Amino acid sequence: MAGYTPMIQQYLQVKADYQDAFLFFRLGDFYELFFEDAIKASQELEITLTARGGGGEERIPMCGVPYHSAASYIEQLIERGFKVAICEQVEDPKHAKGVVRREVVQLITPGTMMEGKGLSEKENNYIASINHFTDETFALAYADLSTGEMRATVLNNDFNEVFNEISLIGAKEIVVSSSFKEEWKKFICERLVMTISNEEDEEIRSEYQPLLSDIDGIKLQSTSARLFNYLHRTQKRSLEHLQPVKTYKIYQYMKIDYYSKRNLELTETIRSKGKKGSLLWLLDETRTAMGGRLLKQWIDRPLIDPSAIKARHDLVETLIKAFFERQEIREKLKEVYDLERLAGRVAFGNVNARDLVQLKKSLQQIPLIREIVERLDSEEATKLAQQMDSSEEVTDLLERAIEDNPPISIKEGNIIKDGYNEELDTYRDASRNGKTWIAQLEREEREKTGIKSLKVGYNRVFGYFIEVTRANLHLLEEGRYERKQTLSNAERFITPELKEKEALILQAEEKSMDLEYDLFTGIREHIKEYIPELQALAKTVSKLDVLQCFATISEERSFIRPNFSNERVMVIKDGRHPVVEKVMNVDHYVPNDCVMNKEREVLLITGPNMSGKSTYMRQIALTAILAQIGCFVPASEAVLPIFDQVFTRIGAADDLVSGQSTFMVEMLEAKNAIANATKNSLILFDEIGRGTSTYDGMALAQAIIEYIHHFIGAKTLFSTHYHELTVLEKELDNLKNVHVSAMEQNGKVVFLHKIKDGPTDKSYGIHVAKLAQLPGELITRANEILASLEKQDPKRHQEESPDLVQNVGQAEETITTKPIEATDHSMIEEEQLSFFSEEQAKGKTQTFTAKEKKVLDKVRDLDILDMTPMDAMNVLYELHKKIKG
Ligand code: ADP
Repeated sequence: MAGYTPMIQQYLQVKADYQDAFLFFRLGDFYELFFEDAIKASQELEITLTARGGGGEERIPMCGVPYHSAASYIEQLIERGFKVAICEQVEDPKHAKGVVRREVVQLITPGTMMEGKGLSEKENNYIASINHFTDETFALAYADLSTGEMRATVLNNDFNEVFNEISLIGAKEIVVSSSFKEEWKKFICERLVMTISNEEDEEIRSEYQPLLSDIDGIKLQSTSARLFNYLHRTQKRSLEHLQPVKTYKIYQYMKIDYYSKRNLELTETIRSKGKKGSLLWLLDETRTAMGGRLLKQWIDRPLIDPSAIKARHDLVETLIKAFFERQEIREKLKEVYDLERLAGRVAFGNVNARDLVQLKKSLQQIPLIREIVERLDSEEATKLAQQMDSSEEVTDLLERAIEDNPPISIKEGNIIKDGYNEELDTYRDASRNGKTWIAQLEREEREKTGIKSLKVGYNRVFGYFIEVTRANLHLLEEGRYERKQTLSNAERFITPELKEKEALILQAEEKSMDLEYDLFTGIREHIKEYIPELQALAKTVSKLDVLQCFATISEERSFIRPNFSNERVMVIKDGRHPVVEKVMNVDHYVPNDCVMNKEREVLLITGPNMSGKSTYMRQIALTAILAQIGCFVPASEAVLPIFDQVFTRIGAADDLVSGQSTFMVEMLEAKNAIANATKNSLILFDEIGRGTSTYDGMALAQAIIEYIHHFIGAKTLFSTHYHELTVLEKELDNLKNVHVSAMEQNGKVVFLHKIKDGPTDKSYGIHVAKLAQLPGELITRANEILASLEKQDPKRHQEESPDLVQNVGQAEETITTKPIEATDHSMIEEEQLSFFSEEQAKGKTQTFTAKEKKVLDKVRDLDILDMTPMDAMNVLYELHKKIKG
């Protein structure tokens, strides 16, 4: 460091502790960045890179942002996963000896955002800590610093469970010890956008003891402590809004693993990764930000406790019936501000007077909402109303103290109401009297001097003045006016009396501004005491909000209340896929039934591509999830079991980042389901085995079905294009074939999207290719190849689907083929060979009759260049005649 100026030395000392962050170093009105930070930040933020001398031999790269607009730059960096250390001047430069003392006052990280655009209104922003113990178990603790919510759990020895949890909560940052395995960090970072931070300190500090009162076990405590210590170290302030850590067990909720959640598009779509098109998007009729966040939490963790589900359904039913009350509640909820995050910001010390006015307005809605909820005729509603404590002391205080339309700044006055504080009123009187005196002065001076255009004015630099135009200067009494400022055609003066009043006014204003600031911070401190009440109220309000949202959607989209069966029976009548239905149009969606019971544990679904197999499977999973989050379901009748877990393997979710093939992902997902499912689970397998060769795939598919059927007994929907598998119905007692019907009309396929019992065996692939507008020649060629294959293998293709007969309503025949073990392999082999024959690879076909061949030979032998058009015509006529026979 030798050779650097003291300021740069100070910079380097601070930076040494914040190697992994951008250091925003306060210099006057700017935050400056130096060295590597400056180079990187200038690229990330597209700001100009300059350089300055710093005492060393080379100039130091430097860039900077004005402090008043720093927030948006900081947000940009945080959003990209970086950390920003804010280093402020911590002593008054006037009193500093040498370089002003500077310290980092906060380390902002992706997981510790408190405000700003990077913080989505309707989404939590979680930071999690993970511990791995010698007995191979893990513990996870997570917090949303903006709301103060904290939860923790112990997980078994499977790292996948940890990954599932952090992806489920959408954590932005994880805090681990430096011994945490590199391969796990890599696994996470390849799949999720994640910032990884280290914290070695696991000591439980006394100030956090109360937050740990509900949890026992050293695992949970040490993991929570690691998180507290990280938050404490980075935020450098007391975090009084953190709520006691709540423990949970993952099996207390319906388990949906990372892949299944993605496949079912519960909170975001696979393609765009956006909310639009997801179940969350369909459901989100919440009116408050808190409600929006709770809705997402509920979707992430469906319930399995029947009485808890019933309580939600009861309230939804009550709210559906009470149409007018629901509308009133919705209106009032719209006025309720984000109490939860507000409480966080009160604790953090960054609320302004406008926030407090919003807090007051929100609290004023609570008695009105409570009164409406009390009117609802239901036990659950009464309970909810009782939990709505509107913290009247806070409302009263804010009503008395804070102006209705205060400015954003809390340092420039005009935020405290008259009458709230006597001392403030005295200053204000002095200032106001002074101002009246000044207003009178203008009149008196005009009279005294006879100058009609004389003005008394004020500006920040020169204070109060008497302004006289140049032409009138001679009318002023000599010696009484002291010159203060010269303008192009006027002069500004001050008199001894005006000077005296000015001093009084300015002094009173300064004092009142200081006092207002003190009073404001006092009020803010006082409100801190109510944080737990505000947080409890926020919880109740969000719950009401989500329930009214369920009622609103259920009514709008004709959802019905499901019943639950203890017998593991599922009967869904006229079920719909709620999102597909919304996106297309109510009129066009074809509702479908689903019956699953002891004899129908596994449904094997066949049907043409694009007919609606995966839509049907998803619809059933979504129905189960909707029911278990407490919402009604899209059907005309529904009896459902309570599912403990849902597993899916739907669509091609290529795991490109980790370099795994579609087929590997497919097998991993299958393994996950098979290893974890119980008889109370729901498994959806879409086209398992498609990613490998026919025999391989078919064999695996059959073996998987048999395994589930014999050893797990989970409710399983298995769609397949291997129609050979439909014979399993004969072998397996609890498996039934169903198919999606389609109709062939004038050479075109009409998808009916209707699920029926029995198998189908035609794929209609070429028709779909046609729909997708592949080139005409290609389609013709595909039809030719198909025809030729069918000719070679008439046995395989004579088994027309029952739906292929023109009329869909006709009675369906059962298809009789042998199980795979006994399949005529030679038949399929022949087909395989013909596909890959050498001739075909060269672009030739072997599909001509002897007669056709003769014609071809003739054509080949013609010497076209030697022929007249008439000769050609004659030959063509001959050939045509020959081929027509
Ligand atoms: P598959 O899995 O059989 O290839 P999909 O389930 O992907 O077919 O469905 C293809 C398309 O058919 C969907 O995108 C949807 O637009 C439509 N569809 C599916 N089911 C229905 C239905 N029940 N009613 C109306 N349209 C449907």
